[in-house]
Amino acid sequence: MVKICCIGAGYVGGPTMAVIALKCPKVVVTVVDISSQRINGWNSDHLPIYEPGLDDVVKQCRGKNLFFSTDVEKHVSEADIVFVSVNTPTKTHGLGAGKAADLTYWESAARMIADVSKSDKIVVEKSTVPVKTAEAIERILTHNKKGINFTILSNPEFLAEGTAIEDLFHPDRVLIGGRETPEGQKAIQTLKEVYANWVPVEKILCTNLWSAELSKLAANAFLAQRISSVNAMSALCEATGADVTQVSHSIGTDSRIGPKFLNASVGFGGSCFQKDIMNLVYICECNGLPEVANYWKQVVKVNDYQKTRFVNRVVSSMFNTISAKKIAIFGFAFKKDTGDTRETPAIDVCKGLLGDKAKLSIYDPQVTEEQITKDLSMRKFDKDHPAHLQPPSPTSIKQVSVVWDAYEAVKEAHGICIMTEWDEFKKLDYKKVYDSMQKPAFIFDGRNVVDVQKVREIGFIVYSIGKPLDP
Ligand code: NAD
Repeated sequence: MVKICCIGAGYVGGPTMAVIALKCPKVVVTVVDISSQRINGWNSDHLPIYEPGLDDVVKQCRGKNLFFSTDVEKHVSEADIVFVSVNTPTKTHGLGAGKAADLTYWESAARMIADVSKSDKIVVEKSTVPVKTAEAIERILTHNKKGINFTILSNPEFLAEGTAIEDLFHPDRVLIGGRETPEGQKAIQTLKEVYANWVPVEKILCTNLWSAELSKLAANAFLAQRISSVNAMSALCEATGADVTQVSHSIGTDSRIGPKFLNASVGFGGSCFQKDIMNLVYICECNGLPEVANYWKQVVKVNDYQKTRFVNRVVSSMFNTISAKKIAIFGFAFKKDTGDTRETPAIDVCKGLLGDKAKLSIYDPQVTEEQITKDLSMRKFDKDHPAHLQPPSPTSIKQVSVVWDAYEAVKEAHGICIMTEWDEFKKLDYKKVYDSMQKPAFIFDGRNVVDVQKVREIGFIVYSIGKPLDP
């Protein structure tokens, strides 16, 4: 019976391993983490992350062939295949700060694997890592443990938060990269057999190690670039009277372009896009390719610009002052169907509004008050793509209240900023909302979820990204 251990019980490690356990009943899967809080969560009825369908998958296999544990060393030592799905954030200090990936967690995981291993292992890079990381990992493993064979594979994860389970059940592709040696090819075959339990074989792509590592960075860079392209177009739409939805639809029907990822918004967020692009920028710079680096850097710059533009629009529309005005924030997560707030545009927008002394009433169905307060108190790293919006002072945090109902958030508010495209924001009774607000009442729709004509008829003054402004 194959034993799998995954180091890192986060947004990737947890759902991915739960699906492997479900689809491969003969494989024993243990997910380990140094955070006992996370592991306790995975072993409880309140999983540490919110993903549609995840509870059900975990319930079906937990205790049968899916286990969560803090006994990292024991389970790593017993495993045949070790996935490493630890966080790889952007470095905040020293060489490459603000761009390079911080591989501290990866390196400590690799050293621990070498330390505790008593038998040969396949070590799988599940985290997103810089191209050539496998070479460093191989060195750390083999120099620290003589006599044991470690075969490194790259198997980057392409799931999107909010649709993780669906993405894992029906992936567009599974990518496995390995060395072109007999051991490398054998390891690829072993991992392929795991995925072949539910993924059609033609969707399992096998490449060399460096192609697999780089493909993940490239995929995120291309996706983010599409968003920045349509957002750049949204600014031009607002300036000219074109409607970005119509433009997106028109260009998306071209089969060479396609319709996906063409929704204009206040900007992309999440833990990956910015981090992976800046990592790509750093790799280009290190390889003597400054022009290529600048090209990708621009994707992040446009994203920052979009958030600044949004804040400026709020302030200028509300007669150039929002001081002491209550503004309701609808949604704080970086996208719907997740409680994840990492790099969410809501953080920058809220900080910008607080900087102009607004009072905020924030509502998100999945994000806790504790998380929101923490996010708004943190100083944003500002090298290379400076935080245009400074963190609020401790007093401005006092200007924030977190509420558990959208109707509560809007009471006596002057305006609403829609930051996350939660379905419930489409279905609200906007007449009721309007009646409880100060007049004139504004909606600044950062996700283009409201029916502009309907809410204008109610009386709202509406700003939607990339749409013609109020007559
Ligand atoms: P996460 O922060 O949610 O989870 C990482 C976990 O690893 C944490 O719980 C942490 O405690 C644990 N950890 C760190 N060092 C450890 C160690 N030495 N031993 C045991 N546990 C350790 O991160 P995530 O969102 O799951 O992302 C993980 C990786 O996957 C990152 O490289 C990320 O870029 C990549 N990725 C993320 C997504 C996503 O949507 N979140 C999608 C694809 C790829």
